[in-house]
Order: sequence, then structure tokens, then C-alpha cells
Amino acid sequence: MLQGEVETDVCVIGAGYTGLSSALFLLENGFRVTVLEAAKVGFGASGRNGGQIVNSYSRDIDVIERSVGPQQAQLLGQMAFEGGRIIRERVAKYQIQCDLKDGGVFAALNSKHMGHLESQKRLWERYGHTQLELLDERRIREVVACENYVGGLLDMSGGHIHPLNLALGEAAAVESLGGTIYEQSAAVRIERGANPVVHTAQGKVKAKFIIVAGNAYLGNLVPELAAKSMPCGTQVITTAPLGDELAETLLPQDFCVEDCNYLLDYYRLTSDKRLIFGGGVVYGARDPANIEAIIRPKMLKAFPQLKDVKIDYAWTGNFLLTLSRLPQVGRIGDNIYYSQGCSGHGVTYTHLAGKVLAEALRGQAERFDAFADLPHYPFPGGQLLRTPFAAMGAWYYGLRDKLGF
Ligand SMILES: Cc1cc2nc3c(=O)[nH]c(=O)nc-3n(C[C@H](O)[C@H](O)[C@H](O)COP(=O)(O)OP(=O)(O)OC[C@H]3O[C@@H](n4cnc5c(N)ncnc54)[C@H](O)[C@@H]3O)c2cc1C
Repeated sequence: MLQGEVETDVCVIGAGYTGLSSALFLLENGFRVTVLEAAKVGFGASGRNGGQIVNSYSRDIDVIERSVGPQQAQLLGQMAFEGGRIIRERVAKYQIQCDLKDGGVFAALNSKHMGHLESQKRLWERYGHTQLELLDERRIREVVACENYVGGLLDMSGGHIHPLNLALGEAAAVESLGGTIYEQSAAVRIERGANPVVHTAQGKVKAKFIIVAGNAYLGNLVPELAAKSMPCGTQVITTAPLGDELAETLLPQDFCVEDCNYLLDYYRLTSDKRLIFGGGVVYGARDPANIEAIIRPKMLKAFPQLKDVKIDYAWTGNFLLTLSRLPQVGRIGDNIYYSQGCSGHGVTYTHLAGKVLAEALRGQAERFDAFADLPHYPFPGGQLLRTPFAAMGAWYYGLRDKLGF
């Protein structure tokens, strides 16, 4: 816990992937870095997520191409596959033990999904991303024992990790480079100005720059960020160990899988051969009373063969949604930088964000500006009504998922 006064070059608020990735890139470039974490390293989404390394953004590059100019779209498109590479570089360089596995499958539940995956492959190939294979109905059965899929897309540069171990390994790397992480040290106030100061309950950090990386757990620390984003909860369950034989029947190549629904299901095996299965969203980030009752039926719909398997763990975590589902990135004044709101698929983007923020602090802001110039709008209804409005939107998309269009 931070007590007293500290002076540093960069004060990072939040020790999730965004904060840790920023800290690592900055330390590697000679900055002094102090990280403040309200709870513990990886307490937020970064320590609780499904562990799926998914390329691109929560809205794909075709949507970006339609909403921004060609030069900005080109830059963002080129960056869409960098986060996964950064994770692999980090794991190799700092010897992080996080059960990294290659291979992620997008599974199609109907022919419309399949058409979407065919265009996604063409789109990604246009940006030089080629480790992709379309799977027909026979081929997808070879990689996942679920009868509901009509096909899929295999991305060999996708994959999965143990999320908390990745965050802990990155935190250890930060400390090995001389960075300091104060846990149980929430930033409670930012004194803005030419020499900003971040206050905690029992201390303060004087810095040249501040990076705000609190994402869905930030609350109202930076009020201008809150209106254009909304914390949402999503839940995960983990089975008892399945044993090698059953695990290999379900996912013979140990790929992770997510389906193509708007409210999607996603799952993978853990290193001790449990199935970790996530799905569903709670708008407004309330904690559901019985997570197993919500998620287990989804798991059994995909894998009825698991009906007698016990659920050992269940948890919820918050991610941050924006209206466009694209990340909210920018600068307040000259010295407060932020990146948040990647709206679901954040494991890869947050690692890229750290690099892009560090580049901006070093004076190379071209890639940062490509993100910062993305338009963002407040949720309709303001803070009071944004939750029911977004839930209504999700209900509509959920219905479309059920009806298969
Ligand atoms: C259950 C779940 C499953 C998911 N599954 C996947 C998946 O499989 N694949 C994928 O790509 N994405 C997934 N995501 C999304 C992904 O995990 C997130 O996008 C990503 O981890 C966000 O990282 P972050 O560092 O920006 O935020 P977080 O990891 O939430 O970190 C923010 C940190 O800031 C701290 N903090 C907040 N306010 C303050 C303050 N005032 N002072 C100090 N510290 C503060 C918090 O305590 C927290 O530790 C999932 C998310 C959840 C919740």
C-alpha cells in the first residue's frame, strides 16, 4: 500500500493488462513507472477473463472502414493482429508460465454465420493476416465435439492463456525492470495541471504523465470518461477436471472456441483439463445471484455429454462497453492519457494499447491518434437510463441470435 509521497515519470492507474502492458513498454524505454492498483494485480477483467486470445477488435475492421477515412482505417487494420504477437513476445521474453496455446475457432451456428466468417477471412487476409482456415461441417467436428455447428473459422494466431498468470507474470516483469506496483492503493483524486498529482487514501504520486487504465472498475475518477462507456458483467463457470479422455474428445487439438452469436458463448480447456465456459452479459454490471444456473444450461446446450459433470467454480467480472464497441482512447490536457472500453474482446487489444500509449508518451502519436480519433457518443438516456436501453438492444440482438438471422 502506498504511504507518503512518490515521484515518478508515469503514474499508471490500474494493474490489469492495459496498465501492465503500458508500464512494461514504458520501462523498456527508460521511463520511471509507478502503478497504483485499487485491489490486487489482475483483480479486474484481466485476472478473471475466459483467456481467449482473439484477434481484431469487438467491431471488426469493415465497420471501422465504413466509419473513418482510408488512412485511419489502414492503420487500425494493420494493428488489429498485433496484440496477440505482443502477448507471445512477452511470454517468451519474460518466461511467463501462463499455459499459452495456439489456435482459436469461431464457430458458425447457421449459414448466415458461415457467410460472415467467409467475409471475415477475406477481410483479414486483405490486412495480411493469413493463418486462417475455413472449416466445413465435417472439419469442425474434428476440432470440437459440438453437434450445433455448421462450420467455422480456425485462426492459428488466436489461442488461449491462463489470464491471471499472464497478469502476474507481467507484473513480475514490471518489477524486474525497476517499476513499482502499489496494491490496495486506489487513486481517489487526480490533481490536474502541468505537474499532475494522483492521490490515494494515504499517499500521493507526483508524475509527468498519468495513464488511466481502470476500465470497468474506474468509477467516476475521470468524470468525462463515464458518459461514453458502461460497465457490464459477464460470467464464467469451470467444471471439475474431466480427465484426459473426455477432455480430448471435446476439444482434441485444445483450441479455444467462441460462437458467432451477438451474445456469444466461449470456452476452452484449462491445463488441468477442466472446461471453462462463459457466456451472457449483465448490463450495468450487477452480480447475478446464481451464475451456475445461468451458464450451465448454455454449456449443456453445446455439450449435453457433460450433464453429470460437477461445476467447481463460477465467477463474474466486468468489462467496459462503448456504444460503437470500439475502444475509447485519448488524452485529457497534455498529460493524462487513457485507454478503455474495448467492449468484450480485450485480451489482445489491451496489450496493443500499452504499446500505443507508450509510443504517444515518447512523442510518436500517429497510431495513438488513429484510435483517439474514433468517434464516441454518450449512451442514450444518460447514466440513469443507459442500462435499460443497452439491455433492450441486447434483448433484440439475442432474439436475432435465437431466430438465426
Ligand atoms: C468474465 C470475463 C471474461 C472475458 N473473456 C475474455 C476473453 O476470453 N477474451 C478477451 O479477449 N477478452 C475477454 N474479456 C475482456 C478482457 O478481460 C478485458 O477487456 C481486459 O482484461 C481489460 O483489461 P484492463 O486492464 O483494461 O482492465 P481490468 O483488467 O479490469 O483492470 C483494471 C484495473 O484497474 C483497477 N482500478 C480501477 N480503478 C482504480 C483506481 N481508482 N485506482 C487504482 N486502481 C484502479 C482495478 O482494480 C483493476 O485491477 C473478458 C472479461 C470478463 C469480465
